[in-house]
Amino acid sequence: MALPGTSSGLHIVHIAAEMAPVAKVGGLADVISGLGKALQKKGHLVEIILPKYDCMQHNQINNLKVLDVVVQSYFEGNTFANKIWSGTVEGLPVYFIEPQHPGKFFWRAQYYGEHDDFKRFSYFSRVALEFLYKSGKKVDIIHCHDWQTAFVAPLYWDVYANLGFNSARICFTCHNFEYQGTAPAQDLAYCGLDVEHLDRPDRMRDNSHGRINVVKGAIVYSNIVTTVSPTYAQEVRSEGGRGLQDTLKIHSKKFVGILNGIDTDTWNPSTDRFLKVQYNANDLYGKSANKAALRQQLKMSSEHTSQPLVGCITRLVPQKGVHLIRHAIYKTAELGGQFVLLGSSPVPNIQREFEGIADQFQNNNNIRLILKYDDALSHMIFAASDMFIVPSMFEPCGLTQMIAMRYGSVPIVRKTGGLNDSVFDFDDETIPMELRNGFTFLKADEQGFDSALERAFNYYHRKPEGWKQLVQKDMKIDFSWDTSASQYEDIYQRAAARARAAT
Ligand code: ADP
Repeated sequence: MALPGTSSGLHIVHIAAEMAPVAKVGGLADVISGLGKALQKKGHLVEIILPKYDCMQHNQINNLKVLDVVVQSYFEGNTFANKIWSGTVEGLPVYFIEPQHPGKFFWRAQYYGEHDDFKRFSYFSRVALEFLYKSGKKVDIIHCHDWQTAFVAPLYWDVYANLGFNSARICFTCHNFEYQGTAPAQDLAYCGLDVEHLDRPDRMRDNSHGRINVVKGAIVYSNIVTTVSPTYAQEVRSEGGRGLQDTLKIHSKKFVGILNGIDTDTWNPSTDRFLKVQYNANDLYGKSANKAALRQQLKMSSEHTSQPLVGCITRLVPQKGVHLIRHAIYKTAELGGQFVLLGSSPVPNIQREFEGIADQFQNNNNIRLILKYDDALSHMIFAASDMFIVPSMFEPCGLTQMIAMRYGSVPIVRKTGGLNDSVFDFDDETIPMELRNGFTFLKADEQGFDSALERAFNYYHRKPEGWKQLVQKDMKIDFSWDTSASQYEDIYQRAAARARAAT
């Protein structure tokens, strides 16, 4: 435990495009608040910098107020004013940047998916650093995340360090190597980066085409590079790296995989206000009460209490194994179970396809597809389901398998990325019994999935007492940020110590 302001208490600033619950699209948002809170609890001073999106959940911010400073920041040959707002989210101090730029960069009614995302986020990265520089804060660690704020690493070392703002060290976390932020080289100049200096194979030029690649730039320029699970860190050193494997190999000394935690305050079945009845591992009555309530809410059959309910909550994108999710619906029906899918897709074809399946099962009271984003319903499904599927093609970390276990829903997952680091097969005798917590399969095909689902169904039906013990064991596993935050703390401390030694 370190106290802020003492020699071991660090000043850590996260610069990110998302933070739960105020601006959430996916797992990145959960990491910013979960890791931030855990580090704060350990005695560090943690601050977050976010864009001030028009569409964020303003009601999740306490004491939102505009600061008495205007930060002037460079972009495309001009300087633009930026309002800085401060507020508290989940107990963490957050600064929101509101550009006074005619492009109205964060006034788009959505977080991502705009034609000028590269501009929007390079602008944001530059202002975030400018704000830190002008504020005179003595920051130890600047932690940026994904391509949207990857610009921070080269900007810091090539622009700000030259101005004397150089006491901090940069940590970059890539949450998904699928998204790397590439653009024509000259676009780097918008935020004041030197194109000629950076458009080189050992710096920011993409490894397979002539564009520049911002994630590559952050790997090259950061002091610490992390990704979100040890297995994914291995996978991205080969094909999983989507072209960046060689860059990662060159920089492997500073690259590490740290498994994400989950926010155990948000995801706590004994206090969860979205549930019909709260429960815990020693009192599972509430779990069956939630199952009954969900069945009623979704107008599903409640004839057989012991009919297993399989849940799935996901973005419906190819990464998540949409073909196996579709197959799982039919297979569960065939095995006599119930299936609830909560998901939506940014891909119109996939959304339409699942709407078709939903129609097909309209009159089947064992299958429900709810094709939207619904936080409250997601809590109910975690609580009500007996099993939870995550058949991803690749999965950097994955949060839903951990949340499912905390709610006593046994995970059935493909052995990839963070799933491989958090779910251990119940029947695998090479793994110590106390670690076995779910059902896994390796091959990304229907047979692979079926074998895991069938084993789960068999065990559920044949050994109800054993199943109950498995549920209780899963609920007691510690998936909090505590352990992972200690690993971040350790690498931050080492980088900060090296920085001190260098001055
Ligand atoms: P990813 O970040 O790739 O989407 P993760 O498993 O890391 O996947 O995180 C997904 C988060 O989003 C989880 O908290 C999950 O509960 C939530 N989620 C995904 N889809 C939905 C949905 N349709 N409704 C509510 N929550 C969802």
